[in-house]
Amino acid sequence: MGIGAELKDSFGRKLTYLRVSVTDRCNYRCLYCMPPEGVKCIPHADILRYEEIKFLCGIFCEMGIEKFRFTGGEPLVRRGLVPFLKELHNELPQAKIALTTNASLLSDNAEALASSGISALNISLDTLNPERFKEITRIGTIDKVIEGIDAAVDAGIENIKINTVLIRGFNDKEIPAILKFAEERKIVLRLIEFMPLQDGIWHKNSFISGSEILSNMPCADGWREVKCSDKNRGPAQYYENDETGERIGIITAVSNHFCSRCNRLRLSALGNLRTCLFNPEETPLKDLVRNGDAEKLRAAIYDAVARKPRCWNDIRDGHIKMSGIGG
Ligand code: SAM
Ligand code: SF4
Repeated sequence: MGIGAELKDSFGRKLTYLRVSVTDRCNYRCLYCMPPEGVKCIPHADILRYEEIKFLCGIFCEMGIEKFRFTGGEPLVRRGLVPFLKELHNELPQAKIALTTNASLLSDNAEALASSGISALNISLDTLNPERFKEITRIGTIDKVIEGIDAAVDAGIENIKINTVLIRGFNDKEIPAILKFAEERKIVLRLIEFMPLQDGIWHKNSFISGSEILSNMPCADGWREVKCSDKNRGPAQYYENDETGERIGIITAVSNHFCSRCNRLRLSALGNLRTCLFNPEETPLKDLVRNGDAEKLRAAIYDAVARKPRCWNDIRDGHIKMSGIGG
C-alpha cells in the first residue's frame, strides 16, 4: 500500500486516533495503576526521542490518523513536553493534539499549554477528599491538583475534561460532589468503569457500573441519554438531568464495551505499537524509526492494524501495565 492509504482493520474499522505514551514514569503511584515502588524505569536511550515521535506522527498522519493523545506514565514529568507539543502542532496543524495528565504539574505548565495548540486536556481525578486522594495516589496532594485545574481553566485551555475511575466503596458516594466541582469550572466530567489491569487493586467487589452510579445520583429518574453528534466525542455516552440540567459522561469500558467502534491505536514509550489495550501483542517500531525507513514503517503499521483484534473480551489476558502502554 502506498502513502496515504487509510488505516482500516480486518473488521472494517477505520483507525484515526493514536495514543502516545511519552514516559512510563510517574510522580504518583495510584493503587490501581502501579506498585508502591513504581515501575522499573526504562533507560532514557530506549525511550523514543521527541524527534522520533514527531517523525512517527507525520507518518501516522499521512495514514489517516487525525488525533494524537499524549499520555504516560505522567507525561508532564518528561522534560520539554509542552514545547514539543507546540512544535508538533506547528508541523502538523491539521492534527488534533490532546494531553492526559494527573494535573500535579499543571499549574506551572498551564500558560504554555494554552498557547501550544492542544485541542483537548483530560485530567484524571478520582476524589476531592484530601485523605482519600493521598490513599489512592499514595503520594499526591489534592491541593496541588486543584491548583493545576484552576490554572488550566484560567489560562483558557479549551475542552477540559475530568476523568474519574469509579471504585465501589471508595468514591462512588462522592460523584455528586465531583460533578459539582467540574460544573463550577465548566469542565465536563466523565466516569470510567474500573478495568481489571495488572498491578492494581481491581476486585470484582470494587467494580461499579456506570448505570448503577446514575441510579444512585440525586434526581436519579431525571437522567436521559443525549446523542452527541461530535464524531470526536470518544467512547463516552452522555447523560443530562431533566431536573438539574447537569451533564455527565460515562465510559462503560467494562459493562458495555465499545470495541465495535474502536478507532484507536497505542504507541508505548519504547516505541511499540499496540492495536488494543488488552492485546499483549506489540509491533516494535523504534529500530525502523531510528533507521529512518518510512516504507518499512508503513508496512509494519499496516500489518499490525490488519491483526487488530475484534474485541478485548476475545483476547484479554489480564497482564496490562497501563503506565507503560499509555492509559
Ligand atoms: N498519569 C496520567 C493520568 O493519570 O492522567 C496519564 C496516564 S494514566 C495511566 C491514564 C488514565 O488511565 C488515568 O485516567 C487513569 O485513571 C486511567 N486508569 C489507570 N488504570 C485504570 C483502570 N484499572 N481502570 C480504569 N482506568 C484506569
Ligand atoms: Fe501515574 Fe496516571 Fe498511573 Fe496514577 S494513573 S500512577 S497518575 S500514570
